[in-house]
Amino acid sequence: MKNKLNLVVAFLVLAFLTSCKTNKIVNSDYNKHPKIKIDCANVHWSHHKGEDGPENWKNLCKGFSDCGGKVQSPINIETKNILNENDLKAPKFSYGKSSVNIINNGHTVQFNVDGDNTVNLNGKDYKLLQFHYHAKSEHTINGNYYPIEVHFVHKHSDSDFAVLGIMFEEGKKNKLLAKYLDKFPTVKGEFKSEDIIDILSLFPKNTSYYNYKGSLTTPPCSEVVNWYVLKTPLTASKVQIEQFSKILNSNYRPIQLLNERIVKSFIE
Ligand SMILES: [Zn+2]
Repeated sequence: MKNKLNLVVAFLVLAFLTSCKTNKIVNSDYNKHPKIKIDCANVHWSHHKGEDGPENWKNLCKGFSDCGGKVQSPINIETKNILNENDLKAPKFSYGKSSVNIINNGHTVQFNVDGDNTVNLNGKDYKLLQFHYHAKSEHTINGNYYPIEVHFVHKHSDSDFAVLGIMFEEGKKNKLLAKYLDKFPTVKGEFKSEDIIDILSLFPKNTSYYNYKGSLTTPPCSEVVNWYVLKTPLTASKVQIEQFSKILNSNYRPIQLLNERIVKSFIE
């Protein structure tokens, strides 16, 4: 079981850090996990319709079989069906600073985070690993899409991750995008700078959220994620949204079935 978890975790990290075909980190890490090497290494997947598209991820290799599971993400959040849960608490952020390391891995644009940035979610500490973007949003609220969704990916243990999702709506210019959008690699690549980002400044002030148990939204779709979808959106200008969406190229997974799950709500 532990071995299986290790494999899952290796994938979790790699899925965000790497692309499908040639990458030194992938190859050296796969060498430590021969089963994955045989099974899912070099498997190409895509967000777009076709043989390697979302409907077929579960069939691409054994290691992606979770993509056909019952506890998948994203979902549509139907606000009339949510459970207002008194036991849920506000996130306690212990975020500091991170240097800037932006990667386009062919599936998303991602900021890798360094330094000690943690959030306490209902009694458990989760360490921030990276954040990345989808356009359109992956989650929908009452069936409605937002133009962009950002995912802050945190880890508590090998089988316990938390992703904080925040929607973007059209409005005032977004400061982070104003600074770096022109620097984002438009194809696979990397941008680094000496700049320092104040992580907490990237969050809305109000931290009311929807909470449910789900999965990674990209292969291997591991069902190890506590989702916290914030109710307060961030803003970006129309031009920023258009420019960013072009780079992200419809990198959102279709909505998954809720099945037996309950979505809880925390109101600050
Ligand atoms: Zn994501």
